[in-house]
Amino acid sequence: MMKKLIAGNWKMNGNLVANELLIKGLLAGLLQPGCQVAVCVPSLYLAQIHSLLSGTAIDLGAQDVSQHEIGAYTGEIAGSMLKELGVRYAIVGHSERRQYHGETDVVVATKAQRALANGITPIVCVGESLAEREAGKTEEVVKRQLAAVIHANGHCISEVVVAYEPVWAIGTGRSATSEQAQHVHSVLRAQLRAASEHADRIKLLYGGSMNAANAKDLLAQPDIDGGLIGGAALKVQDFLTIIAAAS
Ligand code: PEP
Repeated sequence: MMKKLIAGNWKMNGNLVANELLIKGLLAGLLQPGCQVAVCVPSLYLAQIHSLLSGTAIDLGAQDVSQHEIGAYTGEIAGSMLKELGVRYAIVGHSERRQYHGETDVVVATKAQRALANGITPIVCVGESLAEREAGKTEEVVKRQLAAVIHANGHCISEVVVAYEPVWAIGTGRSATSEQAQHVHSVLRAQLRAASEHADRIKLLYGGSMNAANAKDLLAQPDIDGGLIGGAALKVQDFLTIIAAAS
């Protein structure tokens, strides 16, 4: 059976001292995890966390990658630069970047391409807003977002991780129910099956207020292969409990 993946998204949180405490706390509680574990940290701290994680069971992730290869793009970080710092995963298309930075489906798909070209696994986020859910458009929205990534990445689609993150559940404490999440995951799985013969090995993560209390139920669903965790990834014990639920 495929191992689940639990990835923490630290967002714009942390400092040198707090980061070290968090990582050391995780490593102390995580001897041989039965799932894959990653932390996606602010770019400025990638070097720090890279050295703290060296030789451990936790992989390093970034929260974004430039859609460009290299050059005059002030403030951007290229996939090749992330790779040099030992980055294994890069979140692309998080709803906060779609919302606050105007990232379109095409930009997100290009970012996924750039990550893959540099040997980094993109964690591609898709998800509907509350208004879209209430208008009955959930499937249409997530399928459109995923279709752009499938279109741009062709057969390499089997190398991506997809995270279903309903926007209304992110940071709100209001998780999707296991049934709601499983339903959307099954829709995404069917779309991936139509695009790739290897769709069953593509990890589909759920994200949106997953926590120590609800992780077990969510992770027990047949098409939920892990979690993308925001707030709870900043608390050692909560993150360890979620990892244990996935193991
Ligand atoms: C996220 O930001 O990807 C996320 C899932 O956040 P939270 O767990 O805090 O809802």
